[in-house]
Amino acid sequence: MSQAALVVAIDGPAASGKGTIARRLAAEFSLAYLDTGSLYRQVAFLVLEAGGEPTDEADALAAAKAVAGRDIEDDKLRNQLVADAASKVAAIPALRTALVDFQKEFGRNPPDIDGVASNGAVIDGRDIGTVIFPDAPVKLFVSASAEERARRRHLELLDRGNEASFGDILTEVKERDARDEARPISPLMPAADAHLLDTTDLSIEAAFEAAKSIVAAAF
Ligand code: C5P
Repeated sequence: MSQAALVVAIDGPAASGKGTIARRLAAEFSLAYLDTGSLYRQVAFLVLEAGGEPTDEADALAAAKAVAGRDIEDDKLRNQLVADAASKVAAIPALRTALVDFQKEFGRNPPDIDGVASNGAVIDGRDIGTVIFPDAPVKLFVSASAEERARRRHLELLDRGNEASFGDILTEVKERDARDEARPISPLMPAADAHLLDTTDLSIEAAFEAAKSIVAAAF
């Protein structure tokens, strides 16, 4: 892709709908998709696998170095233990720095999609519009109430046949939000020029349509 690649930055808390919206926008507008949360989850997974401590800088940096040589199944990353550890490694400044270049390069030179040049990239995370791509032409901040996000997570887990208590999930959602919002480096917050999309009372279809019209205006 040329330097003029369009970057759509999508930030927001867990289970806000941002991942689904980002994937659908990518398909709709032929944009390459990067889920940056998965980078933090991969690092966290490797720290746990090595018996390390997610709050320890040396453990996190060693795991970040090992990430490129590993292909970790997505299934292994999508659980509460890894999510929790991810939000701990994500609060370490040197670890965030170690992951910056990869994210910037993805936005500057988005990969082709099925052998065809993409129109740019959709990148989702917590600090994409504020820190990684502060000049992105389109920024969305997707949110929903903690109760609604816990409800969605709960349904997802029940759907997959897992036992889960709504109360426990709500507590975990709130704890992770608090850690992501309160950390001194790259806290979760909307960029000043982000479009705010509250999905609490929206179906995923309605949320996608709203996001789609915002992105369409940038083409
Ligand atoms: O989005 P996801 O739930 O996969 O992210 C896992 C954790 O990774 C988040 O709770 C957050 O602490 C961290 N993260 C981050 N910055 C990003 C993406 C994720 O700090 N850009």
